[in-house]
Amino acid sequence: MSFSLHGLAVSGGIAIGRAHLISHATLEVSHQQLNERDVASELARLDAAIRVVSAELESLREEASLPGALSEVAAFVDLHAMILEDPALVEAARDLISERWCNAEWALVQQMEILVAQFDEFEDAYLRERKHDVIQVSERLIKALLGKPRKLTRRKAATGPDDELIIVAHDLSPADTLAFKNMHIAGFVTDLGGATSHTTIVARSLGIPAVVGMQRARPLILDDDLLIVDGTRGVLIVEPDERVLEEYRLRRSSLALERSKLQRLARARSTTLDEQEISLYANIELPQDVEQAKAVGADGIGLFRTEFLFMNRDELPSEDEQFEAYRNVARAMNGKPVTIRSLDIGADKEVEALSTRGVERSAANPALGLRAIRYCLAEPQIFLMQLRAILRASHHGYVRLLVPMMAHAHEIEQTLLMIEQAKAQLRSSRHRFDENIEVGGMIEIPAAALMLGPFLRRLDFLSIGTNDLIQYTLAIDRTDGAVAHLYDPLHPAVLRLVSQTIQLAHRHERPISVCGEMAGDPAFTRLLLGMGLRQFSMHPAQLLEVRQEVVMADTEQLTAKVARVLKIDETDRVRELVEKL
Ligand code: PEP
Ligand code: MG
Repeated sequence: MSFSLHGLAVSGGIAIGRAHLISHATLEVSHQQLNERDVASELARLDAAIRVVSAELESLREEASLPGALSEVAAFVDLHAMILEDPALVEAARDLISERWCNAEWALVQQMEILVAQFDEFEDAYLRERKHDVIQVSERLIKALLGKPRKLTRRKAATGPDDELIIVAHDLSPADTLAFKNMHIAGFVTDLGGATSHTTIVARSLGIPAVVGMQRARPLILDDDLLIVDGTRGVLIVEPDERVLEEYRLRRSSLALERSKLQRLARARSTTLDEQEISLYANIELPQDVEQAKAVGADGIGLFRTEFLFMNRDELPSEDEQFEAYRNVARAMNGKPVTIRSLDIGADKEVEALSTRGVERSAANPALGLRAIRYCLAEPQIFLMQLRAILRASHHGYVRLLVPMMAHAHEIEQTLLMIEQAKAQLRSSRHRFDENIEVGGMIEIPAAALMLGPFLRRLDFLSIGTNDLIQYTLAIDRTDGAVAHLYDPLHPAVLRLVSQTIQLAHRHERPISVCGEMAGDPAFTRLLLGMGLRQFSMHPAQLLEVRQEVVMADTEQLTAKVARVLKIDETDRVRELVEKL
């Protein structure tokens, strides 16, 4: 039966293909009742998984004993080994298999839930938090039981343009989404998610149609159902009839034609009708994204979200590994600016390898918690390691360092001191780096936008992170579909903060860009140009559409019109005027 569902349109275009249902939660396991005769082999499966995890922990322990390793790693390995040996987890799971004939994954999850409830009762906060270690050990065991559960394989090869893979998920972490970069996927829908959650940003960076915040798509869709994803209107059509299918095939071909016409702008300059040179930079998550940035003629990298290098792995990337990744990007951009942002983890960006270190997704308000620079200043060894890697890369190209989420003058001071410390360490180890590396700050907390002085006095450049600036100005969790309708870049308060920041930066001759999703939305290009913005950074998939807006714009006219928009204090009226700009 054909039906349609609606959600948030976050990445335009039409995809027609077959549903592939996935779940990112390792702990969402199947519940199977075994036959009595299978109990022994199920117990053997569990024992084999325990041996695998024990060997994993042993090799982590060896790495932790190497010179330069972090002492906390050894401590958490010891703790996890203790939990693995504790009868309260695995023996109790064994009993559930033998007595209730549960499959091993289900038995483990049941026992883990009992233990987590017991830990929650502890008065002592430290002990309470140890429940996460129990969860992590259980997750390791389940992964071992399932082999490699996150690996997505296609059951059948696509046989035509309507038979491609469309991912359907309840929710996905940014890390899961990142893994799709290496696969051919035609479209993407999720039940949860907001327009600027990091999962959405990564999905958008894949350049494929996506609809998020669908609420109940996953339970209603079956694997291999035929789907149409209309990423422009935010519609998902399940099992369409032939007439609808034909209509969407036509729309898909005309969009492909428009896209190929846009390709002609890949070599064009981004100059407005009144001869203003506009810089269009690319946002990237992984070094290989540089190829896409070059293919659309980006003027440089305006935001390298380095935290994605830290995801989907059990250990942190070493200084050398980070250095190589940053150097490769710097070299590939061949003298064009490469803006590397220091680690911005926390909130919706979980890094498993750091999960024992206090960055808890489950904290009451993760977006207001220990994220980004707050985390880096609290973990100076990790921060210094990254700073050294970025500095070393600065010897191989035009590298700039960008620091996220600062709000206080003392955070800027402390960060600059850490940079000096990293430089001193590199001098003594005789590594070469750019002594005059430019250091910039992101403006993404209203307090920073309202009190720009400390940023202007101490830093070389600024970049407005509108995703977070909007989240914090409007008190809207950017990942929460339930309040997504209130997440509005055109709220007059947001526009005032953005335009004041741009103007003040210009007055003090500090280069300023916007690197949040607003910069990549062609509907806002003219508005931002009229505010005086001359540097935009966005995902490469959005760059040509924005360039098309730029080459048709006249900034002188826009400045006058936008000044009028900025005087209005009603969002609907603002929207009307912005549409007519
Ligand atoms: C932003 O907040 O606008 C930004 C660019 O950073 P991120 O989306 O990674 O939080
Ligand atoms: Mg941000």
